[in-house]
Amino acid sequence: MQNKKERVLFAREDIAYRIREMGIEISEYYKGNEIVVISLLRGSFIFTSDLVREIKSPVEVDFMTTASYGDEEVSSGMVNILQDIRTDIKNRDVLIVDDIIDTGNTLSKVIEHLSKKQPKSIKICVMLDKPSRRKVDLQPDFSGFVIPDVFIVGYGLNYGNYYRNIPYIFTFE
Ligand code: 5GP
Ligand code: MG
Repeated sequence: MQNKKERVLFAREDIAYRIREMGIEISEYYKGNEIVVISLLRGSFIFTSDLVREIKSPVEVDFMTTASYGDEEVSSGMVNILQDIRTDIKNRDVLIVDDIIDTGNTLSKVIEHLSKKQPKSIKICVMLDKPSRRKVDLQPDFSGFVIPDVFIVGYGLNYGNYYRNIPYIFTFE
C-alpha cells in the first residue's frame, strides 16, 4: 500500500478554512454557553485541537478512548470503551468530537454510554461523514465534509499505525 499513489481529497488550507466555518457555526449554536467537548481518541486528536481553538464559548475538553474490535477498515459493530472521561457532565452541554462517522456504531455506543451520566444535551461533531456506510440511524449535528465510501488517511486518521501526523486528508489510489 505504501507504494500506491496518494490522492489528496482535502488540502491543509481546505481543512483550516472549513474548521473556521465550523467554529463559527458551533459558537453561534451555543451562544456563549459553556460546552464540554469530548474528543474520541485516537483519531480525533488533531481535529479537536484545531476545532476548539475556533470556538468562542468557554470549553472544557476531555477525552475518551474507544476501540472497535477487529480490523479497523471493516467495523465489526462491537465497540469497546477503553478509557472513560473524568469530567462530571451531569446537566452540562456535551459536544462529542470524532474524526469520522462511518457505520455510526462508535458514536451510537458513545452516546448510549454518556447519556447515562445525564448531560443536559449531547451533540455530535465530525470532520468527515460517510453517509453511504451508515448502519444505525444517526446524523452528525456538525460535519466538515461529506465523502463517498473511500478509506481516508491523514489528519489524525491512521493506516496501520501511521499517517496520523500527515496534515492533509488523502486516500490511496
Ligand atoms: P464507525 O464505523 O463506528 O462510524 O467508525 C468507527 C471508526 O472507524 C472511526 O472513528 C475511525 O476511527 C474508523 N474509520 C472509519 N472510516 C475510516 C476511514 O476511512 N479511515 C480511517 N483511517 N479510519 C476510519
Ligand atoms: Mg475513531
